[in-house]
Amino acid sequence: MNNTTININSLVRENILKLQPYISFRDHNEFNTPTFLDANESPFGECNRYPDSTQKILKNKLADLKNVSPKQIAVGNGSDELIDLIIKIFCEPKKDSILMMNPSFAMYGFYATINENKVLQINLDENFEIVKDDFLKITQENSPKVFFLCSPNNPTGNSTEDIEFYLQNFNGIVVVDEAYIEFSGKKSSLELLDQYPNLIVLQTFSKAWGIAGARVGMAYASEEIIKLINTVKAPYNVNVLSQELILNSLNENKLEENVNKILAERAWLQDQLKTIDCIEKVFPTDANFFLIKMKNVSNVYEQMLKQEILTSRRDPAISGCIRINIGNRQENEKLVNLLQNVIL
Ligand SMILES: *Cc1c(COP(=O)(O)O)cnc(C)c1O
Repeated sequence: MNNTTININSLVRENILKLQPYISFRDHNEFNTPTFLDANESPFGECNRYPDSTQKILKNKLADLKNVSPKQIAVGNGSDELIDLIIKIFCEPKKDSILMMNPSFAMYGFYATINENKVLQINLDENFEIVKDDFLKITQENSPKVFFLCSPNNPTGNSTEDIEFYLQNFNGIVVVDEAYIEFSGKKSSLELLDQYPNLIVLQTFSKAWGIAGARVGMAYASEEIIKLINTVKAPYNVNVLSQELILNSLNENKLEENVNKILAERAWLQDQLKTIDCIEKVFPTDANFFLIKMKNVSNVYEQMLKQEILTSRRDPAISGCIRINIGNRQENEKLVNLLQNVIL
């Protein structure tokens, strides 16, 4: 199969193909000293104007940073919104299905279920890797429309090698979710965009950038797909304050510094975890969290909770496991202390 010839329009729901986007006139024209009497806003107040629906300044900055065209970028209210929109664009309710890894990020299944699409899962092997034969079998038998490939994967922490294999062997849209890519030292799939018109790369400001509260995520894809996302999105989906906050962060450019701090803490915590009795296994990670297999997991989890240390329990879906993200040194020390003194 050669997906460089894939016809995107043939994958899109008919009602979406016919949909006319809502165009904000002011956002699509240039003015010198405009008097805004067009949107029923108040002339008073500090945040009285609607945000730029095209997120132009933000996209231009991101385009420079990522070496893509602004027309290859859609910005969402978190990447969560983009996951929802991608499903709505390509998956006919009650008819089409999505494919995801198991275990992986729950929101793919959540939004697919809301849209009444079947959720197909590929069970990962004992190293949390995809078995390629299983992938080929499930795609041939069910023809899912969208494949969500999370790399590094949440909650397992590992990255998928050979992403091109999945792009070449999938007759639909492949979404590579790179929420944790900055921690991985691995190459982004952004460089594959020009080769694969069916590729969407998701990134976010919520993790390595440290701006989860602003709710801003990006989809990078072919112009054709980005146009579709821009057509179905709520016009003012990213608010003024968030756009400003993100632009400030891009200008400050503290990403590398933040990532290095987390990576140093990750190394420190990994060393500490090796010495703890109640831990059976710490899985290798490319992200800002560890998946950890515990002895007597309920017991350990409850004791953490009593000390108000909140972690993400993955047992029983992933037997015996808890996902714990890297905190600051004080938080990590508190965690290590507790784990050292757990009563099994
Ligand atoms: C945290 C996370 C996101 C980020 O979602 P936002 O809506 O951008 O905060 C996306 N995908 C995965 C796999 C995640 O773990």
